[in-house]
Amino acid sequence: MKRSIEWQIATIKAIKRETRNVKTYTLAIPNFTPHRSGQHYDLRLTAPDGYQAQRSYSIASEPERTGEIDLTVEQLENGEVSSYMHEVLMVGDEVEVRGPIGGYFVWEVTMGGPLLLVAGGSGIVPLMAMIRHRSASGACHSGEAVDPGHAKIPTRLLYSSRSPEDVIYFEELMRLRAECDGLEIYHTFTRQHPPEWTGYARRIDNQMLSEVAAPLGKSALTYVCGPTLLVEAVANGLVQIGLSPQQIRTERFGPTGSNS
Ligand SMILES: Cc1cc2nc3c(=O)[nH]c(=O)nc-3n(C[C@H](O)[C@H](O)[C@H](O)COP(=O)(O)OP(=O)(O)OC[C@H]3O[C@@H](n4cnc5c(N)ncnc54)[C@H](O)[C@@H]3O)c2cc1C
Repeated sequence: MKRSIEWQIATIKAIKRETRNVKTYTLAIPNFTPHRSGQHYDLRLTAPDGYQAQRSYSIASEPERTGEIDLTVEQLENGEVSSYMHEVLMVGDEVEVRGPIGGYFVWEVTMGGPLLLVAGGSGIVPLMAMIRHRSASGACHSGEAVDPGHAKIPTRLLYSSRSPEDVIYFEELMRLRAECDGLEIYHTFTRQHPPEWTGYARRIDNQMLSEVAAPLGKSALTYVCGPTLLVEAVANGLVQIGLSPQQIRTERFGPTGSNS
């Protein structure tokens, strides 16, 4: 029988501003269950009159970190839960959570690669957990891998943001790219880009997918996460450029109620 995941009270240990409208919350989880990268937690808020609102948030931190998790939340205009988190919650506050949840949109080094990750906006969050896991498990350091069979899993991230200022985890991604043998990162900016920018500056299209995916071959394990329209367009595009639907896993972030 499947074990039901109980609600528990987590305490906010730290809050970090990532971008203009994105913050990362480190939650201390008393009844911690190890997670797999790509899984999420549900978070539930209860008003004094008993009204409750519940949303899902992907785990940003790597499974190697225990006892606490990072959730990275984008504040949406008029967003009920995301606005409360951004405007009201402080370090030391308690929130109700349950998790980890999800068994489909997950990746761990034992699954191997190559790995193709495609993110739109806050869709980077579960993919970042995968990148952090790849790094923490040693799967990217030649010669130092925990299991030599997992060394240097070739990984490519295609990450669509409105502008460079909207890129979440920018510094860390730069550092991991520099440190991590076999990790390549491609940004595309859909609204604004620096004048000297020579990279992609448009919505993700099939040509872009082909250019980024081709060096990984046709067998890449592929994870796509972001707003529903982006995820559907990218998943269709990946099939059109020759990937098999069986190797493509998708996670849609919203709007609320429309996730699959
Ligand atoms: C499995 C899963 C994992 C998720 N992980 C994350 C995560 O790591 N980080 C994160 O920031 N969000 C994540 N989300 C989205 C999150 O669950 C909420 O939907 C989001 O925070 C909006 O909730 P809200 O209460 O602030 O907005 P609501 O009050 O529910 O909605 C406010 C307005 O925004 C629209 N809207 C709602 N959600 C979205 C959306 N995602 N994109 C565009 N418009 C939207 C609504 O239609 C409405 O008009 C995840 C969703 C799922 C299903």
